[in-house]
This record gives sequence, C-alpha cells and structure tokens, in this order.
Amino acid sequence: MIKNLKGIVIDAGHGGTDSGAVGNGIVEKDLTLKIATYIANRLKELGLPVTLTRSDDTTLDPKARVNKILSAYGNDPNVLVISNHINAGGGDGAEVIYALRNDDTLAKLILNEIGATGQNVRKVYQRKLPSNPSKDYYFIHRETGKTEPVIVEYGFLDSKGDDVNQLKNNYEVYAEAVVKAVTEYLNVPYEQLNDEYYIVKKGDTLYGIANKNNTTVTKLKELNNLASNELKIGQKLLIPGVTITELSDYYIVKKGDSLYSIAISNNTTIDELKKLNYLTSNFLNIGQRLLLPNKNDVYIVQNGDTLYGIAQKNNLTVDDLIKINNLPNTNLSVGQKLLLKIPMVQTSSYTVKSGDSLYSIAKKFNTTVNEIKALNGLTTNLLSVGQTLTLPQ
Ligand SMILES: [Zn+2]
Repeated sequence: MIKNLKGIVIDAGHGGTDSGAVGNGIVEKDLTLKIATYIANRLKELGLPVTLTRSDDTTLDPKARVNKILSAYGNDPNVLVISNHINAGGGDGAEVIYALRNDDTLAKLILNEIGATGQNVRKVYQRKLPSNPSKDYYFIHRETGKTEPVIVEYGFLDSKGDDVNQLKNNYEVYAEAVVKAVTEYLNVPYEQLNDEYYIVKKGDTLYGIANKNNTTVTKLKELNNLASNELKIGQKLLIPGVTITELSDYYIVKKGDSLYSIAISNNTTIDELKKLNYLTSNFLNIGQRLLLPNKNDVYIVQNGDTLYGIAQKNNLTVDDLIKINNLPNTNLSVGQKLLLKIPMVQTSSYTVKSGDSLYSIAKKFNTTVNEIKALNGLTTNLLSVGQTLTLPQ
C-alpha cells in the first residue's frame, strides 16, 4: 500500500538486443516502449513524479534494469513500478502479476480498467520460484527490494482471438486504462485527455467537421497547422478539447433540472455540457456542479438568427463574424457555434533542451501541456532537443 508516493518507475519491457516476443507484425520491445512512454507522459501531465527505465531502444540486462528502478526514487515501499509486456503462448487477454510482498489491490484496479476498455481479461496472480517458493519467479518482483512492482501483460501477440488487432489499434487505450488505475490507487484526481482525433471521411469539409465538434475552422487550422482548407480522406485531425480559458462559471443542479433544460437556459447544448463535464450519461444529481461554457465569447445560432442580427447585438460587423469564424458564406444553421472574439494569444518561442518535457516546460511557463500541444500542432508528447516551440506569454 502506497502511503506517501515517492515516485513511479515505468518499465518498458525488453529492449535493444532483447526484442522480447515477436510475431504477427508486433515486436514486444517496440510496443512496450510506446506503451511505457505514453503512460509516463500522461502521469507527468497529471503531476506525478515519473521515471522511465528506458526511453529508446537500449539493451538493459536484469541487473541494469533493477539498478535503474532502485536508483530512481530509492528502495522504498512508496515507489511504484509498472513493468509493461506483451504476452506470447497462444492465449488471449490481459493479465497482471504482482509481487509476493504486496496485496492485489493495484493489480486488480489495472485489470479492471483494462477490462473496461473492452479487452478480455484473464486474472491477477503471483508466481513463485519453483526452487524457492518464498521468492518471486520474475526478477522484476524478486530483485526490486521494497518497491511495489506489477507486470502488466496487455495481450497475446500470437492470440487466435482478437488480441493481435487490439494490441495494434488500441494500445494507447490500454495504456490510458493503466494511467486511470494508478490515479485510483494513489487517490489523485484523474483527468481525461482533452484532445481527440477525427479521421477525415469522403465529403467532409473543415467547416462541417468544426460544426460537428463544437469548434471553429480557425481553431482546427491552428491546431493542425493547416495552411489551406483542403482535406484528404483518411487524414487525422486533432479536435480541440475544452481548455480552462474557455470556462466561465458553474451551475448547481436543482430539483427538476435536466441536461436539456440547463443547456437551453444557458445558451449551450447537451453535447457541450457533457463534454465540458466529462459526463458519460444524461443523469444528474441535485447539488452537482456543472461547468458552463463562456457565454461571452461563443454564440449558438438560434432559429431565425441572421449574421447581421448577431453582429449588431454583439457590436461587430458581418465581415468581422465571417473573418473570425472563417465562414465560407453568410448561411447559418441552428445550433452552429460562432466565435464573437478573436482568440488573442501573445506568444514567444522556446528551444527544447536536454531533459525538458512538455510537462516541465508547461510548469516553467505557467501554461498547460494541452495548450502547448494546441499552439504547436503537436500530436504526441515527444520532444526532440533543439526543437522550437511556440509558447503563450
Ligand atoms: Zn515480456
């Protein structure tokens, strides 16, 4: 049981000359590095102290790996170790193995969260050394002192079931499940990823995608570094999430309220309320606090509205509205969102140095990881030394 977390070591299983299991287009050492990097970045975003055993394709023998683990935050029961692996042997589904010195709480949380994503789950278990049953079978449990290590096996790369495709397509979803489980175990707040992807389909326009996703063409172009409005089928577009700067006040749910009534009276939509408040159902509790979108900067088109009327009401011209929202013509549709103010962000540039992470830069410049990613059109949290970043001032 972790009482006072010292740090979390995220282990990318295998590496370098040790490829781990290989099959069906999956190389274990590569996938574990992707998963480990994802988990480490996300936990950093959530403000937790994290160290990776490896951040590239280096070989780590058991001794070197254990040294990395024990030197990160000391040989202490308040150190978590998440060792990431891909299974082989023809089974199907995920499993978590925990050390003889620990209970199964963390292992169960991880397996439950992975199961909640739709992946099959097998079991959590301990494994003893046959020659000495008082000792753990796996060195990552046996040699890691007082720390609390778990091995997460995400699925089988030689599965006869659905694991192969799931591992290839969903590994980030499973990694996120581990992030969530760790926050539950440590009892720290969990925040979902803000940004989402949209895959461009036949007939899509930037304008249509913006409308469907409660954003604007300007924002989409900014976030995705697009120079023109042209799209390619299959292109991945980052959809902006809700940033704190867009939030204004709270609404406290009263008896008789519904999401629909609250949306109507606050000039917003059910979808937006759900997105803003991470609601997975339409169910509300009396007394619940709901965040409301900032009404001053966004206008939702009502039946009978014209651009001219909206412009007049907001001390703008029709031209202003067209420019701010990058509208192709003056047609409006009910429910469409219009920005009433150009988002003004003063920026400066920063050159990435060795040891920097998005998280450390965000902290230093008093901004957020998501804001830096949005400003720079970054689709991952990976930085390279010498890279130039635009930062808000
Ligand atoms: Zn392995």
